Amino acid sequence: MTALHKPFIIPVFLPHMGCPHKCVFCNQTAITGEKRKIPSPGEISLCINRFLDYKGEKRRRVQIAFYGGNFLGLKQDNIKSLLYEAAKFVTKGRVESIRFSTRPDSIDDERLDILKEFPVATIELGVQSMDDNVLAMSRRGHTSFDTEQAVSLLKKRNYEIGLQMMVGLPGDDDAGALSSGCRIAELYPDFVRIYPTVVLDGSVLADWYKKGEYVPLPLEQCVTLVKNLYLLFKKNGINVIRMGLQASEGLDRESTILAGPYHPAFGALVYSEIFLDKAVSILESKKNDRISIRVNPKNISKMRGLKNRNIKILKQKFHVRSVEIIPDMTLEEDMLEIE
Ligand code: SF4
Repeated sequence: MTALHKPFIIPVFLPHMGCPHKCVFCNQTAITGEKRKIPSPGEISLCINRFLDYKGEKRRRVQIAFYGGNFLGLKQDNIKSLLYEAAKFVTKGRVESIRFSTRPDSIDDERLDILKEFPVATIELGVQSMDDNVLAMSRRGHTSFDTEQAVSLLKKRNYEIGLQMMVGLPGDDDAGALSSGCRIAELYPDFVRIYPTVVLDGSVLADWYKKGEYVPLPLEQCVTLVKNLYLLFKKNGINVIRMGLQASEGLDRESTILAGPYHPAFGALVYSEIFLDKAVSILESKKNDRISIRVNPKNISKMRGLKNRNIKILKQKFHVRSVEIIPDMTLEEDMLEIE
């Protein structure tokens, strides 16, 4: 998804609503920093208007997104009234369409029929893993088969489909996550999001962590794993629209995350590792005392890495005196050239 096509998303959070489950990693109140309550029509339009004012007049695809709970698990009346409020903005031409996230086992023809009369374009499914043992250990309450069924129903109705997966779940490992990634890629969604499992205060995982029964992925290992998943999806032509948790207020408060590979710039860490790998593979066949790396101007910081980490690694690994990063507009976004 290029920046041009990237929608401007107006999030309306429905923390844990419509969800009778308690996945071991979940503490939706901690994630959104809000209490459970279906927002009133007034609250919804206030929230949406605030975002629209912030957006200004720039022309871009705008979507209202219901996130944070299990949208299709809500009572029919609530689903309809939320969609009705959001649809008013579409009718007025201020917003293009609606999107929401939901569980794979909430997708069936009956619920999808409710959506018919509303301008819903995009549906995201919390898939998390395609390994049934990992799903069971995470107490997800659904299987990989539910995900396959859900995707096929959504495809029949031509929705844009986003699949969310997690790495570092209990019972999972790097090979397992990559194999889940392959199975998700085979479903050919329009985009994916990859989230690291972190230990949230108040979750079941927090108890397991305190008892030593769950060990989260170390940050570096997690970045490398997510990088490999990113490359896998990219190879299959699938957009990865997010890597890492959103730095919301709730997440930045130290008390909410007890442990795990959380980093406010997680995605940037992944991209800079990708650029480092590319530079290393070129430099392995070159011998230079000073090197200049040309990248698209957009990728200067990805090439440098956080706090110039990549520069330091390259200098050390290849015993070079200087590494210069030169912006070059003629290069494609994922390319680099070394002299
Ligand atoms: S399905 Fe989603 S909202 Fe429900 S417990 Fe699991 S993570 Fe939380």
